[in-house]
Amino acid sequence: MAPLRIAVVGSGPAGAFCAQILTEDTDHEVRVDVFERLPTPFGLVRYGVAPDHQKIKSIVASLTEIFENPSVRFLGNVTVGSDITMDELRAHYDAVILASGAPLDRRLGTPGEDLSGVVAARNFVSWYSGHPDATFDTSVLTAERAVVVGVGNVALDVARMLVRTPDELRRTDVPEHVIDTLAGHSVREVCVVGRRGPEHAKFTNKEFLELAEVEGADVIVSPDDLALSQEARAGTRPATARLLASLQKVADRRPQGRPRSIRFLFNRTPVEFVGDTSVSAVRLAHTTRPEVVEDLPTGLVLPAVGYRGAALSGVPFDDASGTIPHRDARVLDGERVLPGLYAVGWVKRGPSGVIGTNRLCASETTAALLADAPDLSGKGSGPAGVDALLRLRGVAVVDWSRWRAIEAAEVARGEATGRTRVKLYDRNEMLLAAGAAT
Ligand code: NAP
Repeated sequence: MAPLRIAVVGSGPAGAFCAQILTEDTDHEVRVDVFERLPTPFGLVRYGVAPDHQKIKSIVASLTEIFENPSVRFLGNVTVGSDITMDELRAHYDAVILASGAPLDRRLGTPGEDLSGVVAARNFVSWYSGHPDATFDTSVLTAERAVVVGVGNVALDVARMLVRTPDELRRTDVPEHVIDTLAGHSVREVCVVGRRGPEHAKFTNKEFLELAEVEGADVIVSPDDLALSQEARAGTRPATARLLASLQKVADRRPQGRPRSIRFLFNRTPVEFVGDTSVSAVRLAHTTRPEVVEDLPTGLVLPAVGYRGAALSGVPFDDASGTIPHRDARVLDGERVLPGLYAVGWVKRGPSGVIGTNRLCASETTAALLADAPDLSGKGSGPAGVDALLRLRGVAVVDWSRWRAIEAAEVARGEATGRTRVKLYDRNEMLLAAGAAT
């Protein structure tokens, strides 16, 4: 039987794990082509995991092994929907797996959300991660107080990055201009605002403990915010109890007079971002005492309230949840399964979980696909047709060896500045390094 030819759209962990499971399957011979709109692989591992979390980023070594399997091809710098359409992919491959993640921001719907100075946390994350499409306007960093809305792990990432010292940043791979800007910015206080009590915080204990030990800032938790009723405390899960104990330890500490501070404010929700054209304050309502409303002066608000998937042309999409409708990973058009189309990762189940969660998710998706294999085999006319279309359209495909050239350029840039590696962040520069510039 001819090998199954599978296209995966998106090269983050969910897509990569699918490629791995499929090509390691002993009952089927499978070839996988992974399409990626950026010239670089790994999705949020490269552009979402915080640069000071190099231990988490070490997953790159395992992901690299997946892409170096001769049965897997990386086709970077190819946008599905414009360089190649979904219909073309479906015509040339036996099946297509959608692993396009959650590239948009969940909106708050709060008045004033569009004022300048209210910037989705992702925008800041993309900028310090060297994402080639980042649009973060660094002038907002002239604010003395930043307000982060939401108490998930992304909120902690951005709060921590705002207080990292230049020495700490130099141990990461962020571009030099990011270090220069973060070394000189004006933010002295970062307020992290949760709409519910600390027992509902989404950030994890490990991430909070790390934040509590940053060199550059005092972390402040109000003991009042931790005064939970016996009832609420009795109902907490062990992980929540551990987090509450860590918060309590920090609440009991005296500030050390560090140059910056990170202050947690629980049970408060923004009801308005105040300002004419730029934000000047966040109006916070206390969720447990609705009659109490306070204005927190600020010039920078970073909502970190979650991500959303984006619709892909030619694929059903549920706008309410920001995900692709599916049954056991098989994409649904209404109640009808679309043959040969599968979803995985955040675009399938929404933006939650850690990198490893995607392995389980990929197992479910690939199991569905392999169960359907007898019906899929031979459906597509073969990837050579896609290669020809991309050549015809003058798409500068970044294959794996070209990505390796980008990597080498980043390591060389690091060596030149006494750092392990420094990311390239300009798309043209990446393509030049890859030898793929047109
Ligand atoms: P998240 O964990 O879902 O947290 C979102 C936060 O925003 C919650 O505190 C939520 O509060 C709040 N929120 C949502 N809508 C709101 C509104 N209208 N008004 C006020 N607050 C609102 O999302 P995330 O931080 O973006 O993280 C996404 C995923 O990536 C998570 O699974 C996370 O653990 C993971 N991640 C992991 C790491 C790590 O392991 N180091 C780092 C970054 C991200 P409610 O709970 O009240 O809804």
